[in-house]
Formats: sequence, C-alpha cells, structure tokens
Amino acid sequence: MPDAARPPRHVLILGGTTEARRLAAALAPEPAGAPEPAPAPECALRVTTSLAGRVSAPRLPAGEVRIGGFGGPEGLARWLREHAVDALIDATHPFADTISHNAALAAATAHVPLLAVRRPGWVPGPGDTWHQVTSLDEAAAALPALGTRVFLTTGRMGLAHFAHLTGLWFLVRSVDAPEPPHPPRMEVLLDRGPFTVEGERALLRTHRIDVLVTKDSGAAATAAKLTAAREAGVPVVVVRRPPVPDGVPVVEEPEAAAEWLRGLFSAADSH
Ligand code: NAP
Repeated sequence: MPDAARPPRHVLILGGTTEARRLAAALAPEPAGAPEPAPAPECALRVTTSLAGRVSAPRLPAGEVRIGGFGGPEGLARWLREHAVDALIDATHPFADTISHNAALAAATAHVPLLAVRRPGWVPGPGDTWHQVTSLDEAAAALPALGTRVFLTTGRMGLAHFAHLTGLWFLVRSVDAPEPPHPPRMEVLLDRGPFTVEGERALLRTHRIDVLVTKDSGAAATAAKLTAAREAGVPVVVVRRPPVPDGVPVVEEPEAAAEWLRGLFSAADSH
C-alpha cells in the first residue's frame, strides 16, 4: 500500500533509447504515448529521464527530463544524493560505454540500486556474410578488402575513425549532420529510424553499396538494413558491443525493469 506521508520514490532513467522511453511511459504517473504500459510499481513514483543532449531535437519521454552530462561518476553520484534517487536504471544505448561505467561507480558510491536494460544483440542467419570486429578502428581496417562503396550507419560521432580511407566512398546516415574529421568522399543522409526493408533495399541499389558497417545495436527499428544486405549479397561489418560493467544486473525489456522496481520497493516497504 502506498504511504501517503512518504515522498514518492524517485527513479532516474539514463536514457536516449526506445527502451528508456518505453520504461518512462510505463512508470510515469501519467503515461504519455504508451499504448499498453506495463503496470507500474504500486507506490507513487517520480520518474526522471536523463538525456546526454547529443541530438538537437530528441524524442522526449514521459515524466521529468533533464539534459546534459553530470560531470563524471562523481557528478552522477552527487546528483543521485541531491535528488534523493531511490533506484537507477541504465537504459542507455549498448554502445554508450562511458555513462554505463559511470553509472556503476556512482550507484556504488551513493548506495543506490542499479539495473541495466539491454535489448538482445543481432544474430547472423543463413545467407548473412558478417565480419565481426570489436571497434570502429577494426571496422575501418577491414573495409578496403571488402568493398569500395560503404554504407556507414555507426553514427556521426565515430566518423574520424574512417577519415583516412580516401580511396572509398561513403554513404553516412545519421540523425544530425556530422562534423569533420570525416572521410573526404561521402554523402550524408540525415534520417532517423525506424527504417523499412524496402527503403533499405532502395538505398543499397541506388548508391551501389557493396559493404555495410553497423554497430550491433540490436534494435528492431534499424534491423531492416541487415535483411536488405543479406538479400543483395552485401557483406556486413558488425561492431560487437562492449560488455555491461561487472556486477550490474541486466534485463532485456523495459517491462522486466518495471518488475524489478516493483520487487525492490515492496521489499523495502516490508522492512
Ligand atoms: P557515452 O560515450 O557513454 O558517454 C559520454 C558522456 O556523455 C558521459 O560521460 C556523460 O557525461 C554523458 N552522457 C551519456 N549519456 C548520458 C545520459 N543519458 N544522461 C546524461 N549524460 C549522459 O555516451 P554516448 O555513446 O555518447 O551516447 C550518448 C547518449 O546517446 C546516451 O544517452 C545513449 O543512450 C544515446 N545513444 C548512443 C548511441 C551510440 O551509438 N553510442 C546510439 C543511440 C543513442 P558526464 O560524464 O559529464 O556525465
């Protein structure tokens, strides 16, 4: 039973992903835009989502929103204490490695329970030609042997890793326009998912793409390019994910994170 005298539990979601928006919609007192939100924990909740501020017009989640870095793990620990956060959910992108490590350190320092939400990675199927690498540098090193017309979908922040590949042509897709350094021969396509297989097929054909580069984000919204590449016999360089920091529990779905919160708060209530 909710305790009327107690302030609402405060959940901080580190966001920037579809999963983070789905979780905020499920938890926030007045869910906005979620067709069927998961049942929220039974106590009253205050839900804040934190965004890095990388994208000029981010899709905003339900609940409260703060934007911008915290100033490292110490800054995040301070924020957790000053805003009386009861639980921290790392629902950042699987490749947002620094903030995930900061979250693990800050949660330990501030004694705040932490859970990571990570959608499953993609798995190659019959007909796929994948070259799995562990970094953007390795992806760049693999490219000259694989093709000359590259569809690069790893985001605008890592383009410097490909800037020395003067002999290759790049189609770069990103949400906001990239800044130098970047490959000298490139065309930029400003777009944001979800993408369709039909649309991806047309891109590969129109631009005569012979190799695709992607991070293993695992997102359904951006998986269509893998189907289109398979059909067209285009090889794919897949950058593997960094591991989740040691000791941090992980769930795959926002609904499981809501369940974890429910268990956490009801256990605390019974003490
Ligand atoms: P990152 O390298 O792990 O983090 C770099 C710094 O950005 C962090 O140290 C932190 O600054 C700040 N930061 C990152 N995420 C934040 C958040 N949710 N709220 C407040 N500050 C945050 O992160 P990134 O790879 O640049 O990604 C930034 C954001 O974009 C993440 O929220 C992520 O979910 C989203 N995103 C990333 C990718 C990707 O491919 N990396 C793709 C789609 C969306 P301080 O140290 O000052 O706190």
